[in-house]
Amino acid sequence: MLSNSLIELDRAHLVHPVASYRGHERAGVRVLKSATGATVTDATGHQMIDGFAGLWCVNAGYGQESIVEAATRQLRELPYATGYFGLGSEPAIRLAAELAERAPGDLNHVYFTLGGSDAVDSTIRFIHYYQNARGMPGKNQFISIEQGYHGSSTVGAGLTALPAFHAGFGVPLNWQHKIPSHYAYRNPAGNDPQAIIAASVAALRNKVEELGQDRVAAFYAEPIQGSGGVLVPPPGWMKAMRDLCRELDILFVADEVITGFGRTGPLFACSEDDIVPDLMTTAKGLTSGYAPMGAVFMSDHVYDTIADGAGETAVGHGYTYSAHPVSAAVGLEVLRLYEGGLLDNGRKAGARLMSGLESLADHPLVGDVRGRGMLAAVELVVDKQCKTPLPPAAHPSRRIFDRAWDNGLIIRAFGNGVLGFAPPLCCTEAEIDAIVERTRMTLDQTLEDPDVR
Ligand code: PMP
Repeated sequence: MLSNSLIELDRAHLVHPVASYRGHERAGVRVLKSATGATVTDATGHQMIDGFAGLWCVNAGYGQESIVEAATRQLRELPYATGYFGLGSEPAIRLAAELAERAPGDLNHVYFTLGGSDAVDSTIRFIHYYQNARGMPGKNQFISIEQGYHGSSTVGAGLTALPAFHAGFGVPLNWQHKIPSHYAYRNPAGNDPQAIIAASVAALRNKVEELGQDRVAAFYAEPIQGSGGVLVPPPGWMKAMRDLCRELDILFVADEVITGFGRTGPLFACSEDDIVPDLMTTAKGLTSGYAPMGAVFMSDHVYDTIADGAGETAVGHGYTYSAHPVSAAVGLEVLRLYEGGLLDNGRKAGARLMSGLESLADHPLVGDVRGRGMLAAVELVVDKQCKTPLPPAAHPSRRIFDRAWDNGLIIRAFGNGVLGFAPPLCCTEAEIDAIVERTRMTLDQTLEDPDVR
């Protein structure tokens, strides 16, 4: 039994991320108690398949003993080491080297953070520093994409393009600009891949022209837009945008916080897109959620420009917990597990997930099914012809999440009726099939909801 006092303590004291505080107080917390593999158990004993890997992060699955052992060993031996004063720890150095070896192209320099938001924040600082170091301080305007997500930090939230992260917070700032998303299902350019790519290329070119090429510092893109609703660009889109940035002398930042570490198949989605960004951000799957950590990858020329610009002066950017040895030890073991079979399993499970979800396409509520690897979405509509979203009166995010929960499945239900899937890479075929079946059950129940019609 879940003790009522825990719910009361939560209500009184724990402020939750991205929540309606009053709504949460009314609903009360659901306490997760334990987990193993892809299955999570709550404090009442209810079991669910975690179809969202926590928050698209527990890529290795729960209960991996070797990760626990690696963290425990490190906690005993050296629980903390600062990177200040020229100090370091073995796991952090080894992890940086292992990552650099596997990262695309010359992304050889790794700066560790605590998660994705401060990774994005760090890129903003590094890019300002870089443009100053090369004598172009006027290049200080940043461009990102509608429906994009780049974290929740004070300035990074302004690169994010989701209204809830802006309203009331004083962002975006006046140097943060957006171009439209490639969102194929609802693209004014239609759903022809070449037309979508051409529209994005024209939009970025026009935005840079409008701002002035000598004022634009960087462009940010997710290989797949995650929090915007798992929006998958057509093949070749990343390459076209990357090439344009090179032509216009703008740094290209790939935000792989969700797509990194096997989520879409390979270790990094950029490899599959056949591009080398100037900077790359990662987090989540880096430690599979077992410990907090993010990483900024810098290419040789970005790193060298900053290093040469600073000379003997300190580059004044750092955190107490940069390159935390316990997180790094976890990262090393997680990487070993990915390459020891999890990436392969994830690729197979991802193909099964996609074909399973595609089998839902004939459901009356399903307008679109999209994804790559173990990252997918089903977009619900009440009218397939007109692509009419579910009405707000049907509270799609709350009610669908609750129905799925009762059916033994955790999925992400976005406010507009898009369902997000990002299961752990360790999922068995039976678990993937159960995710699809429980989703179908959830859709059937949603169809019965009088507010949906
Ligand atoms: N960038 C992207 C693409 C993300 O999806 C996220 C988190 N969902 C972030 C940045 C921020 O990461 P974090 O929540 O770890 O701060």
